[in-house]
Amino acid sequence: MLSDREPNGVTEMSSGKYHEQATACDHCDWVNVLPPLQAGEQHDCARCGHLIVKCHPNAPQQLLSNGCSAVLMFIMSLCFVFLGFSSQGSHQQITLLDCIYGLMGEHYISLGIIVTLSLLVLPVIYLTAVLLTALAMRQGKLRAIHYGLTHTINALKPWLMVDVFLLGGLVALVKLQSLAEIELGLSFWAFCVFTICLFRTISFVDKRWIWHCLCGPAPTVAVRSGSALSQGLKGCQYCGALMTAQTHKCTRCHHVLHQRQQGSLNNTLALLFASCVLYLPANLFPIMITTFLGTSEPSTIMGGVILLWGMKSYLVAGVIFVASILVPVMKILMLFWLCWQIRFGCREYEKPTQRIYHITEFIGRWSMVDVFVVAILSALVQLGAMMNIIPGIAAISFAAVVILTMLAAMSFDSRLIWDKSEEITT
Ligand SMILES: [Zn+2]
Ligand SMILES: [Zn+2]
Repeated sequence: MLSDREPNGVTEMSSGKYHEQATACDHCDWVNVLPPLQAGEQHDCARCGHLIVKCHPNAPQQLLSNGCSAVLMFIMSLCFVFLGFSSQGSHQQITLLDCIYGLMGEHYISLGIIVTLSLLVLPVIYLTAVLLTALAMRQGKLRAIHYGLTHTINALKPWLMVDVFLLGGLVALVKLQSLAEIELGLSFWAFCVFTICLFRTISFVDKRWIWHCLCGPAPTVAVRSGSALSQGLKGCQYCGALMTAQTHKCTRCHHVLHQRQQGSLNNTLALLFASCVLYLPANLFPIMITTFLGTSEPSTIMGGVILLWGMKSYLVAGVIFVASILVPVMKILMLFWLCWQIRFGCREYEKPTQRIYHITEFIGRWSMVDVFVVAILSALVQLGAMMNIIPGIAAISFAAVVILTMLAAMSFDSRLIWDKSEEITT
């Protein structure tokens, strides 16, 4: 049974019902037999407790209304002044696009590309994909393009960093407060509302729900208690369908199936070693160079924290210290520990181990805050010889560390945590 579309082309899911027979948990591979779910209900994994599926009431409408609001606020945030500052008779204002033009124009192209992607390109692609998918869900019409769009929604979610950029904007403001008079433009407030709308849209996205709505329930397979691997099954990580081990591509979402991510530990370790190598220049070289009345002063990440602490900006110093020093180090150490745990570790603490993995997934992107602070300050503070700020070489090394550690966390297959314990008990 591939589809249970009603004659008018609207699936049962559009009317708020979810009838999937069974699905494998993405995090522990446990096969969960699902009861029929009504709108507003959710099902958590019987083994690890992770959320399997949530049936949001009126989700297509919610996705459309929140997605359209986000698009509107995004356009507004590009049209007006984002931040302004005045110092000793000089006045400077920037729009969000100036942050990008400033970096590109000053030949900091790598940094400019990172800011462009996280601020403009990825949110626009994500929202377009969500809106087109929500329309298809509402109309019950599935076209070839929706396969790609739905995969895009899942793939882009971890890379949406507008909330981190907003935090970067606030930190930049506090940093400048002692030097100049700060002005928050209309775009700043529009960007705040855009961030809220975007994350509200994300909260209504559930990949199992979307695929069920677009294509109906997955083909039925015989299941028993245990992991999909132990039953010779493959759980699709993209739509939640269960397939036999011989199936190469998911028959519902057409994505290539793997019982476990190929070379997961080796890829994670390679990315971690690369991030360790880049972590050295990221901390040894200046992340930002400030010129004040003709005198240039480079500052490293730690130097910036010490300076802010000395200026009694304890909160901002704390934020930068946690995001730029503590989080990357903790994340690298935790991922190394997880790899060691899979190879040689004790198999009795799967839940705490998985919790540690989720922490590494959650905290990683917040380290980008210092990179955004540098991008905003270097666009805003351009008053010639009197005062200007430019990014240092460490900014791009540090951004690379954050991206590599995020990729390392993504390439780690958390289902491996549970595999050995199952081998022992069977
Ligand atoms: Zn689970
Ligand atoms: Zn699938």
